[in-house]
Amino acid sequence: MAALDEKPELGEAPEKGNEPKTLTIEAEICFKCGVCCVIRDHSCHAQHAIHFNPKHTYVYDCLGSGDPAGNSNIWLCVSCHKCEELCPYEVSPVHIIESLKAQSFEEGRAHPLIVGEIKQIVSTGYAFPLTGSSSRQREKLGLEALTQRSEEDLRRISEKTGLVAKLQRYEVEET
Ligand code: SF4
Ligand code: SF4
Repeated sequence: MAALDEKPELGEAPEKGNEPKTLTIEAEICFKCGVCCVIRDHSCHAQHAIHFNPKHTYVYDCLGSGDPAGNSNIWLCVSCHKCEELCPYEVSPVHIIESLKAQSFEEGRAHPLIVGEIKQIVSTGYAFPLTGSSSRQREKLGLEALTQRSEEDLRRISEKTGLVAKLQRYEVEET
């Protein structure tokens, strides 16, 4: 589908009310058939969350909500692309959901767990805290000790891409 070639990159969130036509068209041509969410053992993992069912699928919830970028359920998507593979109509829910996540982040509405995870990565270079326990386990397994040597590179990249400023905005809002 031609529209997929024009998808925006993550971080290039459309301005509110000015979403690219390609995304709108894709969301509109979703027939809410549920195929991407109800094929047992093969479809969307987020569908298994307690409040989704074949009549109200996860993808329907994300694409059909009145304020999609404000729907915290978008953060359940792990970008596995199964939905894109399964859709018989060549709609790419993951493409739409990723854009919604970017829009949500830009608007200061990203889920606090995601913001915390980003801060952790930017400040240490790792998605998890380096503790004495992880160091001991690595030593036991004969693995090289982890260091925070990428911290400075990440800080510079984050500053140049504007990520630091965006994260600071979240901090101001938290206080
Ligand atoms: S990419 Fe997201 S919406 Fe698509 S199947 Fe995976 S978790 Fe579900
Ligand atoms: S994205 Fe495709 S498979 Fe999923 S509900 Fe819409 S039309 Fe059906």
